Amino acid sequence: MAVVRAFGQSSADQREIDRLAALDAFDLLDTPHDEGLDRVVGLIKEIFTVEIGIVSLIDAHRQWYKSCAGMPVDEMPRQDTFCRYVVDSEEPIIVQDATRDIRFSQHPAVTGEGHIRFYAGVPLKTKAGHTIGTVCAIDRRPRSFGNRDLTILTELSGVAMDRISLMQSAATDSLTEALTRRAFKQEADQLISLALRHQHDLSCIVLDVDHFKRVNDTHGHAAGDEVLKSVAATCKAALRAGDLFGRLGGEEFAILLPHVDREGAVAAAEKVRALIAGHQVGEQALKVTASFGISALSIVGKDIETLLAQADAAMYKAKHTGRNRCVSWSSLQAEQTEGTRRRVLKAGSIVFNDRRSTIDCTVRSLGSDSAGLSVSNSAGIPAEFLLSIKGEGFETRCRVIAQDRQNLEVAFR
Ligand code: GH3
Ligand code: MG
Ligand code: MG
Repeated sequence: MAVVRAFGQSSADQREIDRLAALDAFDLLDTPHDEGLDRVVGLIKEIFTVEIGIVSLIDAHRQWYKSCAGMPVDEMPRQDTFCRYVVDSEEPIIVQDATRDIRFSQHPAVTGEGHIRFYAGVPLKTKAGHTIGTVCAIDRRPRSFGNRDLTILTELSGVAMDRISLMQSAATDSLTEALTRRAFKQEADQLISLALRHQHDLSCIVLDVDHFKRVNDTHGHAAGDEVLKSVAATCKAALRAGDLFGRLGGEEFAILLPHVDREGAVAAAEKVRALIAGHQVGEQALKVTASFGISALSIVGKDIETLLAQADAAMYKAKHTGRNRCVSWSSLQAEQTEGTRRRVLKAGSIVFNDRRSTIDCTVRSLGSDSAGLSVSNSAGIPAEFLLSIKGEGFETRCRVIAQDRQNLEVAFR
């Protein structure tokens, strides 16, 4: 049973909770590239003649680049970013020469190879006024940035926010023609209500391409795109007309199977797994595999968020136990945890080493006896630790039951 301890909650805590809820409502983290936002980033580079332009989203523990030009990474631990000051203050920040700014002069991005000198960041604000991320111009030389420049960057941030709002209405992903994550969930909700009303089976599969980063790194991003298209086509060809197929993120897809029970879904997943593993893509005959997690409608899993969280946890288990395989949530449940889980997006801390070490995390899903966490890097996190969710006044001892580079599945002790 979880040990709950009360924390005092300040208005800053509450603002952060509301901000994370607003970010969650957009459901944009780890979604695929968008041409419109890439154009905004291109404009930033052109207009200000800087090397780096970014449209970023900032959750509890990390800054994730929704669109970025001039930087090789796609995310950063929140505490290491310049942009966290923009989110904390909800105001623009301009640093003309980072070597002369007490906040940044000793920052590794300034002292090290990144050689960052100039930074201008403005909040990416929703209509309701929540700062969900930043829009920034960055350069490796010092430069000045006048009021007019700031006005232009602020307007570009408005353009980015408009584009994000518009993206919410797109039903399909342009690369793979799969449903967008949002559209998938909306349609899934309807199919789930129908299944509950008429007491039909329904199940859910989440799949993630294995070692996909290697495909990009070895063969280039365009080849990676071809692989994704081919994986999506393989999935679609194997599905029935009434099934839903969506792209949850970069190389992660979901399938909803109405009228199919857990055993049927495991068989369907196994079929798709074998098809993907046996397929070769393009002239280079690239081969990839994928890991699958399966969940089914049950007394504790009656909404799409729960089904996805369960399938997700099972999928991480599949990664953890060798990849290119299918794991059903029910097997994980029997082995490790009992209760239901909801997808959430909360700021948490992983505390260990007699409270001397703390790593920020995002709590992706939470139940009465288990949780799914995301971190910037899971290396160095011990097998047992304390999980604290400040906004909830919650603290409990956990043990890791599955993990990959950025995700941990934990059971409460
Ligand atoms: P794992 O087996 O643990 O899933 O390893 P992985 O390499 O597949 O996972 P990781 O999350 O480390 O890397 C996913 C990569 O997918 C990183 C990202 O740049 C790439 N990616 C995301 N979206 C796209 C896209 O639309 N096109 C291409 N080509 N690559 C993408
Ligand atoms: Mg992957
Ligand atoms: Mg992935």
